[in-house]
Amino acid sequence: MQRRHFLRQAGALAALAGSGRLLAQTPPPSPHAAAAPLGQLPFAAAKPLAPIKARADRVVAVTVCTRPFRAQGPRIEAERIGRRTVVHQYGHGGSGWSLSWGSAQQAVRLALAGGDSEIAVIGCGAIGITTARVAQEAGLKVRIYAKETLPASRSFLATGVWSPDSRICTTEHASPAFKALWAQMATASFQQYQRMLGLAGAPVEWRDSYVLSEVPLDQPAGGGGEDDEPDYPSLESELLHGLRPHGLKLDPGEHPFPVPYAARYPGLIFNISAYARMLMEDFLHAGGSFQAREFESPRQFADLREKTLINCTGYGARALLGDESVIPVRGQTARLIPQPEVDYGLYWRGHNLNVVPRRDGILVQAQMPGDFNNADTTIDRASTDAAVAQLARLFPAA
Ligand SMILES: Cc1cc2nc3c(=O)[nH]c(=O)nc-3n(C[C@H](O)[C@H](O)[C@H](O)COP(=O)(O)OP(=O)(O)OC[C@H]3O[C@@H](n4cnc5c(N)ncnc54)[C@H](O)[C@@H]3O)c2cc1C
Repeated sequence: MQRRHFLRQAGALAALAGSGRLLAQTPPPSPHAAAAPLGQLPFAAAKPLAPIKARADRVVAVTVCTRPFRAQGPRIEAERIGRRTVVHQYGHGGSGWSLSWGSAQQAVRLALAGGDSEIAVIGCGAIGITTARVAQEAGLKVRIYAKETLPASRSFLATGVWSPDSRICTTEHASPAFKALWAQMATASFQQYQRMLGLAGAPVEWRDSYVLSEVPLDQPAGGGGEDDEPDYPSLESELLHGLRPHGLKLDPGEHPFPVPYAARYPGLIFNISAYARMLMEDFLHAGGSFQAREFESPRQFADLREKTLINCTGYGARALLGDESVIPVRGQTARLIPQPEVDYGLYWRGHNLNVVPRRDGILVQAQMPGDFNNADTTIDRASTDAAVAQLARLFPAA
């Protein structure tokens, strides 16, 4: 439901701080400025925003993958299978990258209880590789067994934004215990991401993002997209007060977009190409190893020499374990040729249009009806072209 999506955006806009003024509105320096005491000098005007070249012929990649959603939230628990301890760590919905570090801490804590110094991690998406890194930092020797490793695994096809409560559970299952666990995982991950700022290749960075709307921001915008989905809780706005910087409502004239209502907030983004590569290299440098392997059944875990395993198979857990609680939620994204001068993102309410200024391309995403419980990964190029055409309406002169 669109209203739910807005409420989560409202989490992003946490405590909108009135209708503050943009730097672009600052008056030009007076000719007498040099004589003014420091602190009274006007600050230089901000550069205007660079327009996005939104054209279908600039689309260089269109991809589809499925979010591994569980109504109950991710499964993080230990189970004895034959003579192996298997710690399950799957079902992170639309929040896998965002929660990966905190979730890995939970799973590794369970794995450490077995007392082994060598463990196996099954799977090498966002969850597997991060779990492997956290296990290494805890002093364990780790071997990853996976059908595919990054960048071939599904996680590589994510949008790449901090979205820790995106399809992470249903409202019905957001118990106090789950909320406490979620807040712990989200906070730990957020803190870890702040330690990755400023690194070569910018695996993680902050970018301003604009919420655009044809109706006031505190009113539902319509537009469908999530209408056929269950009710999701807005955990970030409820539980993470003060963790991320506030957003700001903008008055008309304080932004260049041809819509009556807008707000700006700082967004944390993941440049997934650089970030995935960094994680893989860090894993190898810390002595980790990979083995290509597809498991048909959990009985095959008995073949492994490690006695403790962490199962990070994502949507693959549904087939591997016969776990039908893992529901596919389809998501299609496209990338336009990178524009390094575009340093802002967009979310256009009512059109469900999401744009992320990633270094490996301007990512364009439009949520479509019928994506819930849909494992079809066939590319729908017409939807991408429609999303890009919609985006172009914001930049008539580009
Ligand atoms: C369109 C889209 C956009 C998204 N955007 C964001 C976002 O902006 N921010 C965010 O935080 N999250 C986002 N997500 C969610 C995030 O991508 C997922 O939660 C995350 O990728 C799940 O990671 P995973 O490691 O569990 O799964 P996967 O990436 O699927 O990894 C599973 C691994 O297990 C292996 N495997 C599976 N089955 C077997 C088997 N039988 N034998 C051996 N190996 C096996 C696979 O080969 C793979 O290595 C998005 C998801 C989608 C679809």
